[in-house]
Amino acid sequence: MLDQAQRILKDVFGYDAFRGNQAAIIERVALGNDALVLMPTGGGKSLCYQVPALLREGLAVVVSPLIALMDDQVATLDELGVAAVALNSTLSADQQRDIADRIRRGEIKLLYLAPERLVQPRMLAFLQRLDIALFAIDEAHCVSQWGHDFRPEYLQLGQLAELFPNVPRIALTATADMRTRDEIVQRLHLQDAERFLSSFDRPNIFYRIVGKDQPRKQLLGFLAERRGDAGIVYCLSRKKVDEVAAFLSGQGYPALPYHAGLSNDLRANHQKRFLNEEGLIMVATIAFGMGIDKPNVRFVAHLDLPKSLEAYYQETGRAGRDGLPADAWMAYGLQDVLLLKQMLSNSEGDERHKRIEQHKLDAMLALCEETRCRRQVLLAYFDEELPQPCGHCDICVDGVQTWDATEPARQALSAIYRSGQRYGVGHLVDLLLGRDNEKIRSSGHQHLSVFGMGKALSEGEWRTLFRQLVARGLADVDLEGFGGLRLSDSCRPLLRGEVNLELRRDLAAKAPKPAASAASQLVRGEEREQWEALRTLRRKLAEEHSVPPYVIFPDATLLEMLRSRPRSLSEMARVSGVGARKLERYGEAFLEVLNGAGEPPKAVADLRHELTSLARAGMTPAQIARQLNCTEKNVYGLLAEAISEQQLSLEQALDLPEELLGEIQDTFLDGEGELPPVAAVAELFAGRVPEGVLHCVRAALQAEFEV
Ligand code: ADP
Ligand code: ZN
Repeated sequence: MLDQAQRILKDVFGYDAFRGNQAAIIERVALGNDALVLMPTGGGKSLCYQVPALLREGLAVVVSPLIALMDDQVATLDELGVAAVALNSTLSADQQRDIADRIRRGEIKLLYLAPERLVQPRMLAFLQRLDIALFAIDEAHCVSQWGHDFRPEYLQLGQLAELFPNVPRIALTATADMRTRDEIVQRLHLQDAERFLSSFDRPNIFYRIVGKDQPRKQLLGFLAERRGDAGIVYCLSRKKVDEVAAFLSGQGYPALPYHAGLSNDLRANHQKRFLNEEGLIMVATIAFGMGIDKPNVRFVAHLDLPKSLEAYYQETGRAGRDGLPADAWMAYGLQDVLLLKQMLSNSEGDERHKRIEQHKLDAMLALCEETRCRRQVLLAYFDEELPQPCGHCDICVDGVQTWDATEPARQALSAIYRSGQRYGVGHLVDLLLGRDNEKIRSSGHQHLSVFGMGKALSEGEWRTLFRQLVARGLADVDLEGFGGLRLSDSCRPLLRGEVNLELRRDLAAKAPKPAASAASQLVRGEEREQWEALRTLRRKLAEEHSVPPYVIFPDATLLEMLRSRPRSLSEMARVSGVGARKLERYGEAFLEVLNGAGEPPKAVADLRHELTSLARAGMTPAQIARQLNCTEKNVYGLLAEAISEQQLSLEQALDLPEELLGEIQDTFLDGEGELPPVAAVAELFAGRVPEGVLHCVRAALQAEFEV
């Protein structure tokens, strides 16, 4: 059995060895037994049911909650030469009938379905007449009412156990906690399923958390080494998402917003572009999440604090699914703590619920302020012990400096107390620094004994200190009022001088170091050019096949090509990720690029690609010209080329008033036959639009006529 599985792994998927529990899971399911698979994102869950599907007779039915996920999987299988289809509501009745016929004829190996569709009586009856190889229930945590991805339709999947008693079922999830696990077993009737629990560590992710100082500047610093990489920037509010996306675009980073306030169309469009284009940054609220299976997300940056470690783990986990180095970066400050505490106190729900949420937030804050390895703290929260510090997080790499903050902390607490426990951090810092301003005077605080007592520390250091006091629960936030600080019970021993307080220093504020990052070192120096050439070819093939680039080959495969330099098809076949079908389809083309036989990558081609992404991201020609350091005239020329090759629409390239556009188009279309050259109409528009605009409009008209 396993021999056969191994052969399929190599021939179809192009991989040499199973990872982790994959082999055991595949054996179990292929032999007809149930399994519950708990594996982190990127662990390789799909193979756990795809290989058994190919080993067993009949149709494998895969339940998945999102259309985007299904389409992605089907496209991937299609490229591998495996017959898979997704039945969903976007198909016409004819198309659905056609698929049903192909299934009856046994031409399909894997059928992807949404749960609500699977449990329709007609569908169940249809499937009962067929030979079913297995049921795979992906994202099985959706059955849990406690999780945030609950889908009522999942509850009905329990009936599969009775309706198909002899068909093996495999449930898969990346959610770790015990409660969800038990709920899946119970609700899906998986009592006989063997549980396969993997480590939830994501070794390829580098974790870094910095004190928030000037967040935008810090973000730019982080991004500077990651130009051209795809990533997600999470913010708490829609407004902030919009602002940050605009800010990044203005700084020359192709960025798109994503939040629940955008229209469905726009959201879908942005999501699609994120999947299909390379190097886009999605600035998003947590509405952007499940269903993002893009494997080569190279970083996840948080500009706001998530409300729990579960959320942090899940959101950062979207980076590096392909196993290549990736970064999780977060800037966090006092304001985050205040805001989340405020939201918590205003939230609906009973006291017990609020207490749980409070504990979750405390665990999140502890991760930020801890002096231990981030990975150890994170995994410990999920009941997993990492015996040694990981060596792959900011704490392990930079070390932590702690300092004896006992005295300043007492001063801070005393400032809170003496000013009446109702002022916010800004005022408290002014008070400690002895600043003579309006608010201090009007409250008479210049007469307090603490006034000017804290000149030994800077403003930034005081803010950090207050943040740490709140994060550690030594001071509370007055949530009814305006976020003023109060003493909490737990600060008494400190105030009375019974205990000392060690705090960690914010390195960001003290000693700015070049951020050690793993991801930016993926490809370096002389490799860069060939890497880009491989990516360019991949992009071209992806466009031809209307699939995202990673469906052609994952980054890991391109990287291996780059490093192992295959010179023949048989050497190419040895590269991990190159299966038989892809070898046949693409082997030759990639060999040519690798061995320099094909066209060398032209600078112009690269420039044009960058330009199209910038234009798609909404930059004006003038902005693009600045960004690419060339003349506007050149930009227009390249835009016109991109338009005529239909890589760009006119709307994407230019933002012209409709009336003016109409006028230009009419002018071009005025005569009979061929479009007049730009020179013939240029005079009419002299001074009104740059000539380059005319080139673009003409190119668009021409492209339209050609099809
Ligand atoms: P998950 O669903 O658990 O997040 P996927 O099934 O999408 O993960 O797999 C993540 C990546 O790892 C994919 O690119 C997949 O092709 C790759 N992969 C999975 N198993 C193996 C393996 N045994 N060897 C090499 N690559 C693998
Ligand atoms: Zn570590």
